[in-house]
Amino acid sequence: MTDDEIDDRVDEWHNGAGLGMDLHEYLGWTWEQYQEWLEGRPKPITDPNDLGLTDVHDPMLCHGRACVMHNPLSHSMRDWPVVWRGRYEGFERICEHGVGHKDPSQFAYWQEIGEEWRGMHSCDGCCAE
Ligand SMILES: [Zn+2]
Ligand SMILES: [Zn+2]
Ligand SMILES: [Zn+2]
Repeated sequence: MTDDEIDDRVDEWHNGAGLGMDLHEYLGWTWEQYQEWLEGRPKPITDPNDLGLTDVHDPMLCHGRACVMHNPLSHSMRDWPVVWRGRYEGFERICEHGVGHKDPSQFAYWQEIGEEWRGMHSCDGCCAE
């Protein structure tokens, strides 16, 4: 397979093809082949915001949708400091008033897993600008 073909397969998988198969199975690979392929790719940015995070998900898992780490939306808060809240497992952007706002780049993921409510928060309204 060429890289483009692999990308297409990964997109199909993200759109629900394979009915719960693991990605490497869907690609027809063994786990070892999949690991080898990952190693051969350009090293993904796992911590663009220097948050000292470990265990950031594999970029293949968010391929094709917005992601705070790998594919941030160009929202109005993108230049604000970002913090990781382990308590509810999400990112917040801090406005000039020190108020935390849920980072919109993670909403698509929450929607995907049926947890849109996680994007709701009470705040001073800066994120609506
Ligand atoms: Zn990601
Ligand atoms: Zn504010
Ligand atoms: Zn807000």
